[in-house]
Amino acid sequence: MPDSRPNILFIMSDDHAAHAMSCYGSRINQTPNLDRIANGGMRFDNCFCTNSICTPSRASILTGTYNHINNVTTLSTPMDNTLPTFPKLLQAEGYQTAIFGKWHLGTGPDHCPTGFDDWAVLPGQGLYHNPMFIFNGPDGGTSKVVKGYVTDIIADMSLDWLKQRDPDRPFMLMCHHKAPHRPWEPDEKHAHMYLNEDIPEPETLYDDYANRASAAAAAEMRVGVHMVATDLKTEYGYDLPEDELRKWAYQRYIKDYLRVVASIDDNVGRLLDYLDGEGLTDNTIVVYTSDQGFFLGDHGWYDKRFMYEESLRMPFILRYPREVAAGTQNDDMILNVDFAPMFLDLVGLPVPEHYQGRSFRPLLAGDTPDDWRDAMYYRYWMHKTHHNVYAHYGIRTLRYKLIYYYADALGQAGTIDETYEPEWELFDLQNDPYELNNVYQDPAYADVVKTLTDDLHRMQADVGDERYFKDET
Ligand code: CA
Repeated sequence: MPDSRPNILFIMSDDHAAHAMSCYGSRINQTPNLDRIANGGMRFDNCFCTNSICTPSRASILTGTYNHINNVTTLSTPMDNTLPTFPKLLQAEGYQTAIFGKWHLGTGPDHCPTGFDDWAVLPGQGLYHNPMFIFNGPDGGTSKVVKGYVTDIIADMSLDWLKQRDPDRPFMLMCHHKAPHRPWEPDEKHAHMYLNEDIPEPETLYDDYANRASAAAAAEMRVGVHMVATDLKTEYGYDLPEDELRKWAYQRYIKDYLRVVASIDDNVGRLLDYLDGEGLTDNTIVVYTSDQGFFLGDHGWYDKRFMYEESLRMPFILRYPREVAAGTQNDDMILNVDFAPMFLDLVGLPVPEHYQGRSFRPLLAGDTPDDWRDAMYYRYWMHKTHHNVYAHYGIRTLRYKLIYYYADALGQAGTIDETYEPEWELFDLQNDPYELNNVYQDPAYADVVKTLTDDLHRMQADVGDERYFKDET
C-alpha cells in the first residue's frame, strides 16, 4: 500500500527579499508563480531570521538551533555534517531526500551534505553561468562544470530527480537557488526586461543615517558607492555626487536583481506544473523562502546583515491543500529555527528535545496558541568583514526593536579584529516603521528601554547565548 505521508518541496533562494514578490505587495515586480504558492496556501508576514547572513541561516534552518549552538556563526564556520538535521531524520523514517543548488555550509567529507539520498551543490557561492557543481560521491563528492544558467540547471536537477523517484514513498526535496545573490547576472531570456522604464525607488534610498547609532553610517553597502563593475556591469559612472550616484546605480542594480528573480519565478512554475501534472499537489507541502531578507535600495543599501526590517524579514509562503486553507495570511512571529520542527510535526515525527525552534503547525490551521512568542532574539556575529557591519544582538517585539552593537569580533572566524565602543538603538516600529529615529535616549521611552533590556537578556539566556562583557545596562 502506498505511503500516504506528505511530500515536502522546499524551495529556497538566496537573498530574495519579500518586498520583491507580488504576493507580498511588491511595488517593483510581478512573481506569478510564487503567487500560486501564496494563493494556494498561507503567507507569513512576520517570518524572521535569527542571523541575517547565508551560511548561519542555512544551518539554523537545517538544525533547528541558533548559531551559538550549531557553531555556524559566520561565513567562515562550516557546519558539522554529523548534526541531526531534519532531512536526516526524515531519511531515517523512509523519506526519499535530495538537495540541489546552493549549500554554502562547507565542502569536503566533514561538511558536504548528509542525510540526502542524492545531491549536487555549488561550491561556495557558485557561478550564474556554466557553474561548477559538486556531485554526491565518495570523500565529499566529485566536481564537474555544468553548462547553462544556474537557476535553470538547479530546477532541471530537481525535476530529473523527482521523475526517477519511487512513487510509493514520500519525498523531501530541497531546491536551493543561488539567485538572486550578488552579482545579479541575468540570463538572456530575462536580460531585456525593464529596459524602457524606471523602477520605483524605495522611500529611504537617500537615507543620511542621522539619528542612528554610528553603525549605520559606517556600513559599506551603499548602492553605487560601494559597488564595483561586476555589480553594475559598467566601469563608468561612479564619480557622480552621492545622491545622483545612488539614483543611477539603483536602477541598474534593481533591474538586474528583478531579472534574476524572474528566472526563479519561471522555474518555480515548472516545479509546480510537475506536481499538478502528476497529481501530487494535494499531498505535497510546498514552501518558498529565502535565507534572509535584503536591502533593495532601502536605507540606500544593498546586502543584509543588519537587524533592520528589510534584512531581518524572510519571505515564507506555504501551500499544503490537505491542511492549509487557500489564500490565507498570518501575522504571528515565526523564525528560521522553527522550520525544522514544523516539517517534522507535519509528517508526524517527534521533534528532538534539543531543537530550539517551535513547530508552527497550529498557525497553519488558523489557531495561534495563547503562549505563542511575542518577541525574538537576533545576533549578527560577523564583525566588519565585507561590508563593515558591526557585530550586534537584539530583541524585536511586536512593536519595538532594541539593538546592541557590541562591535567586537570576539575571535570569531572570518571577522576583522577592530573593536568600537558599544552603542544601543531603540526603534518604535509603530511610529517609525522605516527605523529612521533611534529613541534609545528619549526620556519618553525610558520604561520601554528598561523592560526590553531585561527581556533581551532573559531571552538571550533562555536560548543559551551569552551577554557581551561590557553590556551592563
Ligand atoms: Ca543569503
